[in-house]
Amino acid sequence: MGRITVERLGIFGGTFDPPHLGHMILAAEAADQLALDRVLWMLSPAPPHKLHQKITPFDCRAELVKACIQHEPKFDLSLIENERPGPHYTSDTLLFLRERFPKSTIVLLTGGDSMNDFHEWHEPQQILDRIDEMGVMNRPGEGIDWDQIKSVFPNIMQKIRFIDAPLLEISSTEIRERVATNHHFRYYLNEAVFHMIQKNNFYQKT
Ligand code: ATP
Ligand code: MG
Repeated sequence: MGRITVERLGIFGGTFDPPHLGHMILAAEAADQLALDRVLWMLSPAPPHKLHQKITPFDCRAELVKACIQHEPKFDLSLIENERPGPHYTSDTLLFLRERFPKSTIVLLTGGDSMNDFHEWHEPQQILDRIDEMGVMNRPGEGIDWDQIKSVFPNIMQKIRFIDAPLLEISSTEIRERVATNHHFRYYLNEAVFHMIQKNNFYQKT
């Protein structure tokens, strides 16, 4: 008799403006170390904490993510957050994913900076209740204050899984600034993403 396996599904949310090698390494190490069958890159239309800043149109970012993940069979782009009106809260998205993938083990993936802000997310306890595990990768300059986090969410460590990877000082903000000021940015990105940014003149000063 065949063994029944439960899909282990990684959920990786971001603005991905643009997607870079920090994202790729986080998703790939998570898939490897946490034995994920699939990682859904959940593109956020207009994240509640970034409402004040200019963001590249959703469809353009979707094309960038597609180019970025095209050679990774385990990675998929999810556009579902764009199918409902904002604000787009992770807790609502997870409720939807639970219904859509009732048999999957859901593993939410984040970098350390998101972890430190976690108490400010919308309905953080509901988020924890709706996931099975949370994969966390450290980020430079963002030591995680676990004592503080545990004081607010006493049972959180049961769900935390650490993703071991080198600290990568790469951010979309830095890449956008480098493009706008004509500095090198090519090797912080997947080659296809680099070409797409150039071809479309993304992030140029207007
Ligand atoms: P921005 O500078 O525009 O905020 P970003 O580089 O932080 O962009 P996001 O789209 O905000 O990218 O991040 C999506 C997810 O990827 C978040 O959970 C973030 O913590 C994580 N992440 C991004 N870059 C890194 C990195 N270099 N190391 C670890 N995690 C990262
Ligand atoms: Mg960010």
